[in-house]
Amino acid sequence: MKRPNPIPVAVVAAIAMLAMAVPFLGLANPTAMSIAHRMAPASAAHWLGQDEYGRDVLSRLLWGARVSLSVAAASAAMACLLGTAMGLAGGYLGRVAELLALRSMDVVLCFPPLLLALLVVTLFGPGALTLIPVLALVFLPGFVRVVYAGVLSVRSQEYVDAMRVLGAGRLRIMLRTILPNIAGPILVQLSLAAAAGVVLESGLSFLGLGVLPPAPSWGLMIAAARSTMTQAPLLLLWPCLALSLTILAMNALCDALRDAVDPHRAPGRRPRRLPSLLTPGLLMAPAPLLDVQGLTIEIDTPAGPIQPVRDVSLGVVPGETLALVGESGSGKSLTGLAIMGLLPSVARIAGGAVWVEGRDVLRLEEGELRRLRGNRMAMVFQDPLSSLNPVHRVGSQIAEAIRAHRSLSDHAARDRVLASLRRVGIPDPLRRARSFPHELSGGMRQRTMIAIGIANDPKLLIADEPTTALDVTIQAQVLDLIARLKQEHGMGVLFITHSLPVVAEIADHVAVMYAGEIVEQGTAAEVLTHPLHPYTTALLRSAPAEDGSLPDSIPGTVPLPHQLPTGCAFAPRCQHRTAACEVARPALLTAHPGHTTRCIRWRELAGAPTRQAVA
Ligand code: SF4
Repeated sequence: MKRPNPIPVAVVAAIAMLAMAVPFLGLANPTAMSIAHRMAPASAAHWLGQDEYGRDVLSRLLWGARVSLSVAAASAAMACLLGTAMGLAGGYLGRVAELLALRSMDVVLCFPPLLLALLVVTLFGPGALTLIPVLALVFLPGFVRVVYAGVLSVRSQEYVDAMRVLGAGRLRIMLRTILPNIAGPILVQLSLAAAAGVVLESGLSFLGLGVLPPAPSWGLMIAAARSTMTQAPLLLLWPCLALSLTILAMNALCDALRDAVDPHRAPGRRPRRLPSLLTPGLLMAPAPLLDVQGLTIEIDTPAGPIQPVRDVSLGVVPGETLALVGESGSGKSLTGLAIMGLLPSVARIAGGAVWVEGRDVLRLEEGELRRLRGNRMAMVFQDPLSSLNPVHRVGSQIAEAIRAHRSLSDHAARDRVLASLRRVGIPDPLRRARSFPHELSGGMRQRTMIAIGIANDPKLLIADEPTTALDVTIQAQVLDLIARLKQEHGMGVLFITHSLPVVAEIADHVAVMYAGEIVEQGTAAEVLTHPLHPYTTALLRSAPAEDGSLPDSIPGTVPLPHQLPTGCAFAPRCQHRTAACEVARPALLTAHPGHTTRCIRWRELAGAPTRQAVA
């Protein structure tokens, strides 16, 4: 958090301290009348003169500030607390909480604010204590809507998903992850509510519905001065001046606070992206860490259900890396999210099973799933800048990941945070732990994401495009880091990428996805040197060549899930298609043990007549 502008802070602090210190200032009794000195001008005993009843104007002004500010602050704080709770619950939990939060505020908003205040005050009687809940009710819809909108804009951020991946509960995510990121708009709303509270209190007191005479109040002072303004205009000037300056100062303070708590306003921040993991091996070992069988994901659309992921089967064993490769829109990331139990609410599992260390994660309760996420399995997202919470220090975020699954003392947690940073090769971990994400380089941020991912020594790491947009040097460093971590800790890695050169560097096995289904799978050595599916061949040809020759782009685009052709999904882009390819969806054929392809012409195209299709 930046240091806020000191001027509005000092002004508001001075006003508040003055109001609090009023009983100790030795002022004249604000209600003591002296009819003989009605509207007397300023004197040594009465610096601002006396009002229409001979009361000391300065004393009434300062006591009035105390009343006005107390009512405004209490009502704004009450509305802020309640509105924030309702907006957070409605925005993050959805369903009943969302319905209650929004519809109840619609009812309140049916009444113009001043009329609502007048109605309640008329029903329950005037007085400062009545004003506080009345004004809080008037301010409540503003807080609920601001917080609700803030939650909607933040809840899909990757750092929120990252906390879910770590197994954090919903309350913790709302309070520790989402709330700090919407603190700026809430503070602005708080400033507006407090300033409006001062105005409304004065207005209602002016109308005789607020503070009751003879108690001092700025509204009562303005009301009384109105009838004598031709004889003593200064009696009107002082409360109006106090009111205007206080509101201006409060607005300036909250603007300064908003700027201070919003890290996006820090100069010199540039969003960047992340890196990721692994190396090569074999598929479907006897005891897979991850075993996905026939996974199908369905989404309802106005045109009917679509299946962006169909019948996907793959496996990862300890100490090895499976690269899931394909163009954008092939269903890779959705598959990774399904494994973590993090599918967006519009998507559902329509078939298949996912086992992690023998546990069927698709059938686990949310609580059990949370205990697995961030503990036995972890996920590293594509963009570390959006995956890291911008308002928390790096060390705090790693500690959060650890404490989501372990009860540790502050000292032990700190040691573990520093150890995690050292493991991912971050120099000077003590200083880096105190840094905010925007103070780190792109490579450093990605290392931090990996440090969070491995903080609890997960057995399975899912890395979704972790090296996208990193420069070649940083990309190589991150790939080396993942390979080292995998070897040292025996993790299994599912590496999601669209880059075959990256696959060649890190993968033991490769699964090629196209239009929601696996079209080829095998060891990295086999798939990359003897591809059996025309799409894999096209991907290889579209990669940058070592001799500097121009790569061949793949004509056309991946078909949308509701526009899939009847037969082979790749047929519209395949230069080898025949009429037979368009008759029915090809099955996944086993060309030889450990190497499968979804192409009916694989044998002719591969020119390998000795290999026999098994099924
Ligand atoms: S089945 Fe036919 S259209 Fe599909 S990839 Fe093989 S050759 Fe191409």
